[in-house]
Amino acid sequence: MSEENDIIIAKSAGFCPGVKRAIECVLELEEQGNKPIYTIGPLIHNKQVTDNLESKGIKAIESLTEAKDKKGVLVIRAHGITPAFQKEIMNFGMKVVDATCPLVKKVHNVIEKYAKQGYDTIIVGDSKHAEVIGLMGYTQGKGQVVGNIEEAKNLQNFEKVNIVSQTTQKEATFLKIAGIIKQKAKVCNISNTICHPTKQRQTETTKYAKDADLVVVVGGHHSANTARLAKLCSDLCKNVIHVETSEEINKDIIINSKKIFITAGASTPIWLVEEIANYIKDLREKSK
Ligand code: SF4
Repeated sequence: MSEENDIIIAKSAGFCPGVKRAIECVLELEEQGNKPIYTIGPLIHNKQVTDNLESKGIKAIESLTEAKDKKGVLVIRAHGITPAFQKEIMNFGMKVVDATCPLVKKVHNVIEKYAKQGYDTIIVGDSKHAEVIGLMGYTQGKGQVVGNIEEAKNLQNFEKVNIVSQTTQKEATFLKIAGIIKQKAKVCNISNTICHPTKQRQTETTKYAKDADLVVVVGGHHSANTARLAKLCSDLCKNVIHVETSEEINKDIIINSKKIFITAGASTPIWLVEEIANYIKDLREKSK
């Protein structure tokens, strides 16, 4: 945490280690002269960063048919993919670099281990999120995604169930949902697979957001983890704004708030957080 005139910037703000690693990986490939570089889906949901990557010839594609130049490299992003898609990519005839976050790979392994023993898998998370789509691929066809408490209550009973979490879930929600599912199973294994960087971010946010007059959450409007962080803050502080750039900030709310806590999602670059923090500091200085 860094603090100046009642403006607190979260220490955990900025890229998580998995995203940082994936970005460094493509930049290194670019420096080595690899061209073109295709990433399977955007590396992160942050327009400022993806625009910058695109200017360097690093292009996000949604399907292999878009990879026209086979002399290039295909990069699997931090979220990971299903084993079936991985096989398809490996047989596509292009150089492949796997930038799946090791902490996501751990979840793949946990799911696979129990699925092979005949367990059903429940993934607590967002069914449309790329990471969750990838995780489902390891369930051997016996996986379901649960997004909320209602859905957990409506589940059938299980002989054996393994419950895992999307790595960026809110821990309290995961534990509540896991508790409900446990009652429905003869044998239940709960694997709390929320990653350590996410837990740290949530702990820090909970500590500072509750005492703030205003929380500024910096991150892409399409970033699920930023939206989830903003929701966590809204449960703790009545004034929360989710912004992608400083242009979206209403000056009055900054001037009228004494204690401001600035945090950011895992896909937000630290330079953007600093830019917004400086903008807020400037506004406050000028209003004195
Ligand atoms: S949020 Fe966690 S698991 Fe996901 S990419 Fe970042 S460090 Fe890895």
